[in-house]
Amino acid sequence: MRTKLHQFHGGLHLQGHKAESLSRDLQQASLPERLYLPLRQHIGEHNKPLVDVGNRVLKGHAISASTSLIRAAVHAPTSGTVAAIGDYPVAHPSGQTDTCIVIDVDGEDEAATPFIPDLQQLDAREKIELICRAGIVGLGGAAFPSSPKLSRGKVQGIDTLIINGVECEPYITCDDMLMRHYSAEILRGVGYLQRILNPKVTLIGIEDNKPEAIAAMTRALAHAQLAAAEIVPIPTIYPSGGEKQLIQILTGREVPLGQLAFDIGLFCQNVGTCVAIARALEQDQPLISRVVTITGDNIREPGNWEVRLGTPVRHLVELAGGYLHGDSSHLVMGGPMMGFSLQGDQVPIVKASNCIMVMREQTMAHSLGYHDECIRCSKCTEVCPAQLLPQQLYWHARAGAFERAHEYHLFDCIECGCCSAVCPSGIPLVQYYRAAKSEIRAAQKALIKSDRARLRFEFRERRLLLKKQQEEERRRLKREALQKKKVQAGGEIPIADPVQAALERVKARKLAQQEDSQ
Ligand code: SF4
Ligand code: SF4
Repeated sequence: MRTKLHQFHGGLHLQGHKAESLSRDLQQASLPERLYLPLRQHIGEHNKPLVDVGNRVLKGHAISASTSLIRAAVHAPTSGTVAAIGDYPVAHPSGQTDTCIVIDVDGEDEAATPFIPDLQQLDAREKIELICRAGIVGLGGAAFPSSPKLSRGKVQGIDTLIINGVECEPYITCDDMLMRHYSAEILRGVGYLQRILNPKVTLIGIEDNKPEAIAAMTRALAHAQLAAAEIVPIPTIYPSGGEKQLIQILTGREVPLGQLAFDIGLFCQNVGTCVAIARALEQDQPLISRVVTITGDNIREPGNWEVRLGTPVRHLVELAGGYLHGDSSHLVMGGPMMGFSLQGDQVPIVKASNCIMVMREQTMAHSLGYHDECIRCSKCTEVCPAQLLPQQLYWHARAGAFERAHEYHLFDCIECGCCSAVCPSGIPLVQYYRAAKSEIRAAQKALIKSDRARLRFEFRERRLLLKKQQEEERRRLKREALQKKKVQAGGEIPIADPVQAALERVKARKLAQQEDSQ
């Protein structure tokens, strides 16, 4: 089998900057003194803490979870004591703080007793449940929980499983390292995905600038028990690792605007997620660590580390030899195209953290401040891999015409940054789109909230009305019962008048008092 390759629209050839972090082998990061675990590390509702301050936790204990459909529990990455639950700096484009569970690490790394089931006996639904319990999310950067995605894929029916080993953004090399070191584990994870989804074919896409990863994966595939699976080297062009772009390259099929891959029978999963799935099913190991690249022109020893979640960036910087030129670095989580600036090195590594860039100077367009006007050159349209009209999106986003931006498929923008990179006016287009998306999401949230408040009010009104009607009905029945009794008694029923009776009693008491005094 030799898969025919296709092209997607637009894209850019970028400087890779990968050699710096690939010059050292994969290393295991030591444990810091404290871990900071944000309650939310995935797309979906916030988790709620399952522990209290002072509790001792073991490696693998669930410490926060939610009951919503799109959920991913967070587990203790090592043993220790819960020191605090409160607001701390987290990795978020807004730079705001968020609720974290802080664990004082005891250094023993004592694990909870694993429960290892007989995988042969488990059906697809039970395997998905174990993946859910392990808190696994897509490790390519999106952090969408894997279990609801698998459940939906199972229901919709999948003909092609695509494994994403592309890692097209400059500087980032964590998946490259992962494929070199954990190729067998990746393919075992792919095997579980195959058994859950029953695809006809499995295509493992890897960019051709990763020859060692391709070689390691090809060797591992020769020994793996995988049906109809192929390693497919693809040309190096950014953003071929975008889900829809990779699908187009490997299958020639286009996911229509507004739809998702499983709507057309395709399922995409990152190589890191495959490792997490294999560990969850084979060792009952939840998602507590990941490979992170630390690189840039202001870090002494760039490389890749397997890091426990919750480790502060500062600890990683120290492991990588520290800052080259003092502490005045510009830190970015992710790569130069899709990453975002960090407020400082206290923020922790989370499930979505694939790379920390440590740069001497500001590399990313931050603000929506001054820039030249759009000259309608159409360069942005030429490079847009999602085939959108970036300048139209920009006009509407800038004018606050969010409905119009929606009509121009704002939410199909993958925020790849190609348009911003080629804009001769230096307009930070992606920043405009991100701001517009968060405004729309906030408005939708507020709408849902006000709808809920309205529903609550209407429910209360209905409840009170029902109560009133029940009371009236009760009184009516009582009246009818009395009337019936009266008819059965053949005439008047003497009904005691309570007021009259009270007056009679007072009168009698007065009379008695008068008699006593006489
Ligand atoms: S590339 Fe920039 S200047 Fe050219 S059309 Fe797009 S937004 Fe306008
Ligand atoms: S950031 Fe969005 S609009 Fe710009 S090129 Fe990428 S997908 Fe197109």
